[in-house]
Parts: sequence; structure tokens; C-alpha cells
Amino acid sequence: MGQFSERLSSIFDDVVRRSPGEPEFHQAVREVFESLDPVVAKHPEFAEHKILQRLCEPERQIMFRVPWQDDSGEVQINRGMRVQFNSALGPYKGGLRFHPSVNLGIIKFLGFEQIFKNALTGMPIGGGKGGSDFDPKGRSDQEIMRFCQSFMTELYRNIGEYTDVPAGDIGVGSREIGYLFGQYKRITNSYESGVITGKGLDWGGALVRTEATGYGATYFLQEMLAARGSDLEGRTAVVSGSGNVAVYAVEKLQQLGAKVVACSDSSGYVHDPDGLNLDLLKQIKEVERARIDVYAERRSGARFVADGSIWDVPCDVALPSATQNELTADHAATLVKNGCVAVVEGANMPCTPDAVRIFSEAKVAFGPGKAANAGGVATSALEMQQNASRDSWSFEFTEARLAETMRNIHQTCYETAEEYGSPLDLVKGANIAGFHRVARAMVALGLI
Ligand code: GLU
Repeated sequence: MGQFSERLSSIFDDVVRRSPGEPEFHQAVREVFESLDPVVAKHPEFAEHKILQRLCEPERQIMFRVPWQDDSGEVQINRGMRVQFNSALGPYKGGLRFHPSVNLGIIKFLGFEQIFKNALTGMPIGGGKGGSDFDPKGRSDQEIMRFCQSFMTELYRNIGEYTDVPAGDIGVGSREIGYLFGQYKRITNSYESGVITGKGLDWGGALVRTEATGYGATYFLQEMLAARGSDLEGRTAVVSGSGNVAVYAVEKLQQLGAKVVACSDSSGYVHDPDGLNLDLLKQIKEVERARIDVYAERRSGARFVADGSIWDVPCDVALPSATQNELTADHAATLVKNGCVAVVEGANMPCTPDAVRIFSEAKVAFGPGKAANAGGVATSALEMQQNASRDSWSFEFTEARLAETMRNIHQTCYETAEEYGSPLDLVKGANIAGFHRVARAMVALGLI
């Protein structure tokens, strides 16, 4: 475990004491605190205003019952929640996750990360996150719709274009956003496009939002390599996951000349030494919503591995893009042994703290999620801009904005790391730069 000063330790201990049983939240807070000693030392006003203590306490946490009926007529009950963490920079902004593992601690970790991620984008968006322990796997379209309608029937009173703007995350894609937005529109009798992002292109959505997180993470990787005088051409890549982030990371990696040889889902991974066939992957995951082993069935030369680790597949660059804590110290050691030179987090906190330490000791370039996967939420902010001005931008223009944003985020993290005496440490750079922007705004807004 990394260290921080006694003052930060006592604040951290208090966070743990007041939020017991939330290990992911504690992990996310600790990881940020480990970077903050030098900033707090340089800025006594942050301690005076108790910025850290206030940052760790969500402004508001909403939990609600979500009753719905499945196709057999049986009543089902899930728990819905929204953590409105910090609105110093703008309306709460962040996705909704529908997954059986969801609990308050996980939503708080995601909401906490989102504060700094959103700050790094330079856009006017605060941090929030929500979701439910609903498991969409195997559910019919009708069941998904009934669940989304029930969820929104409770959530609608807490969100709004100027209040809180949800979007997707694991288990929530454009189909779910459609049902959620439809119910919001019906209840409020207003077409308030800017209340949710990730909308379909025919009804207020923005071009590039679908691709943005994966594309953005790849641009970030490109910047990291460029800072070391290198690029993606001819590189072998492994991308875990096969959801929205992973699929579009694969697409951009291929466009930039890399060969992506493996991806995964919760059932296992596929290894395709010739390079993944993206059309087939999209067909299986986006159209058929099938399991990843189907890919290996239909593609000669590819194999499916059910019990094993995708990180055993040798690669030059790795993009963990599935879920939190998926890449452990053992996996990190294997990647280093196999000659991996760069790791970029497409998911939120996919690498454990020990894994990150191993990368840092081995001088593997490491891009933390709150910087590297910020392209998704940044493009959500572009969607909000288009909604506010009743405009829609071209793919080329929007993608250029995304690329520029990722370049700026990398630059900010890089320069901040240098300024604070830890060159190339993008974890420090991201944490300090993100914190600094939010902390300054919180001081300016007074004791609220
Ligand atoms: N769920 C995404 C994230 O982790 C996107 C959130 C958004 O677009 O609001 O950043």
C-alpha cells in the first residue's frame, strides 16, 4: 500500500469508518489520496476549507425500490440508486450501471472517480453515478423495457438538464437509454433532450458518442507512446471485455495500425493470432448479444479459453476494458514478463493497486482510467452542447473534438506530473490535476 501523511490518513480513516463495507469506494479514495500530499502542502486553503472531507461525502445519495414484472408475470424487486457526488463544476454527470454486482459502495467508487475524470475533460460537468443490481443477462426486450420504465418512474424527480444528467455504463446501452428517456419524456411531458446522454441518432443523440470511450482510450495510448517517441504501428494489442468500450478500442487500434489478438467477456476470452475480425465481433456482441465463444466457433484459427486469463496472451499494449479489479498483480507480472510496454485503463479502475505498482516499477507506461477513458463522458458533454443549441455536428468535427480533448487531458496529466516532480507518472498527474480544478471551484463557491 502507498503512503500518505498523517493528516490525510486521519481523513481516510474517517471515510472508512463512516462508510463500512465499501471496499471499492475505499480503494478509489485511497488511490487519489496517495497523490495529494504535495498539493495539500502547497495549498493550505484546501485544508482550511476541508475540501478533502467534503469531497469524500456525496452531496446527495438516492436509493429506491424498483418493482417490475417479468415475462412469466412474477413480481421482481431490484434496488435503484443515484449518487450525486459533486456539482462544483456543473450538473452531476455520469452513467448508470445495471449489473448484479451493483451496490452502494460500487456506485460511490464510480461516482468518486467520475468527479476527477469529468474535471480533467475541462468541461462544465460535475460527478455522479447510478444504477441497479438488476441483471439484464437473458432478459427479453419487454422485460428490459418494463424495468427501465419502473427505474425512471422513481429517478425522474431527481434528474434534469441542469441538475443531473445520466448516461450508460455496464449493462446500459442505447436500447436502455431509449426506454429510460421515453419514460422521462412521458412523465414530464417535455422533450428535454439534455437530461440524458448516449441517445440514438434519430432522437437527440450525437455522432461519435458510441465510439467515444474506446476511441478516446486509444488516442490516449497513442499520446503516451508518442511521449516516449513511439507509436501503435505494428503493435500487438490485447483488449479485455467486448462491450461498448472494448469494441471501439479494437476499432481504433486497428485503424491506427495495431493488431488486436484477444478480447473477452465474463465467460472467457478468445485468442485470434491473425487479428480480431471486427465485423464478426460486432455481429456477435452488438446484434446477437451472444457469448464470446461463438466468435471462435465461426472464425478459423481463433480459440476460446474458458478458464484462464486473457493477460496470458503476449502483447505490446494492453487495454483492460471490462470491469474493476480485473487485472491483478499476477496478471501484471505476466504482462511485464511478456514484454508489454504500455497499459491503458478503458474500464473504471480495472487494475488493482498492486498491479499498478508493478507496472510503475517495471517502467511500463500506465494510463489511469480517470484520464484515459474520459473520452466517453467528454463526448456526452458534446452531446449536451448539441442538445442545448438544437444542433447536430458531423462525425469528422466531433471526432476531431474528441481527439483534441484526449490530447489535452494527456498533456495536462503529463505536465502536472512533471510540475510535481514525478515525470511520466500519469496517475499522479491525473489525480492532482483533476483534484485541483474541483478544489478551486469548491473554495470559490463557499461552504456548500
Ligand atoms: N459511464 C461512462 C463513464 O464511466 C460515461 C458516463 C457519461 O457519459 O456520462 O465515464
